[in-house]
Amino acid sequence: MKILVTGGTGFIGSNLCRHLLRTGHEVICLDNNYTGRLENVQELMAHPNFTFIEQDVTCDLKHDQKLSALLKGHLDQIYNLACPASPPAYQGKHAIETTKTCVLGAINVLELALEYGATVLQSSTSEVYGDPLVHPQVESYRGNVNPIGIRACYDEGKRCAESLFFDYARHMGAKIKVIRIFNTYGPFMDPKDGRVVSNFICQALKGEDITIYGTGSQTRSFCYVDDLIAGMSAMMNSDPEFQGPVNLGNPGEFTIKELADKVLTLVPTKSQLIQKELPQDDPKCRRPDISLAQSKLNWRPTIDLNEGLKRTCAYFSARLQADGVL
Ligand code: UDP
Repeated sequence: MKILVTGGTGFIGSNLCRHLLRTGHEVICLDNNYTGRLENVQELMAHPNFTFIEQDVTCDLKHDQKLSALLKGHLDQIYNLACPASPPAYQGKHAIETTKTCVLGAINVLELALEYGATVLQSSTSEVYGDPLVHPQVESYRGNVNPIGIRACYDEGKRCAESLFFDYARHMGAKIKVIRIFNTYGPFMDPKDGRVVSNFICQALKGEDITIYGTGSQTRSFCYVDDLIAGMSAMMNSDPEFQGPVNLGNPGEFTIKELADKVLTLVPTKSQLIQKELPQDDPKCRRPDISLAQSKLNWRPTIDLNEGLKRTCAYFSARLQADGVL
């Protein structure tokens, strides 16, 4: 199949491109490289079925000449992953671009999908549940989002994108799939993007203080990227009647302090745990209920946190050495 991956040079996008090439597809990887990195797809550039196009998902993709020339009238599937996803990347001065990327990006991929008759998968997020009052989070829970807080650009942007997807399906006949991705980690994360797994591992490898925000009693559920990719692919290729939204995440739940302790057992280091201020609106808990994914997609994660962290530590160790940081 001919498949477009927006956000293809990012952490999840680059892992997805690799998987799609391995399974015999032709991949067009689109990214503006704001938080994505060309290095993440460097070794794919020579692959005969891989093309990279530098473009912003907020532009009119349907009428983009470079993209049209690549598609040559044919496109089967679109994975829409384009959006900054780390809180430090989407907050601050990039907040407005983040909402635009979510909303205009959704419209542009949906219009493109309609033009070509392609199925389009939206990567939504556990952030649509905000600071959840229902635990674990089921898809029917409507969330607890502060619409004027510093996370709103992402949370509300992704919520609006979901509503656009379902309206395009209802009114225009778009073929849609919506997944809600919970915290994911693994190779090709950006060491500097500020997320907890990359921060803790890189801090431990460098012997720097491990920064726990707040008391570290807040919880998250961490899914290894290969498990997520398997779930995404299962959803994309599932019964067209099943549009989602469906949670994809690992239901194992850990406090941030427990995560720090695990990293300390895996990386020999002189690092100490220190506390920093808890960011505004930081969700207190998060864990997916994955019953729907299990029953509809026959999917559940297979890689536990210890194994996934080992693989991720090996990746960051090699990466920081290659970058001359270690
Ligand atoms: N966090 C932390 N130290 C860090 C980075 C993050 O304690 O160096 C905390 C953060 O406050 C949140 C959790 O770890 O409670 C997960 O943060 P992340 O940015 O990875 O993802 P989020 O789930 O907040 O989108």
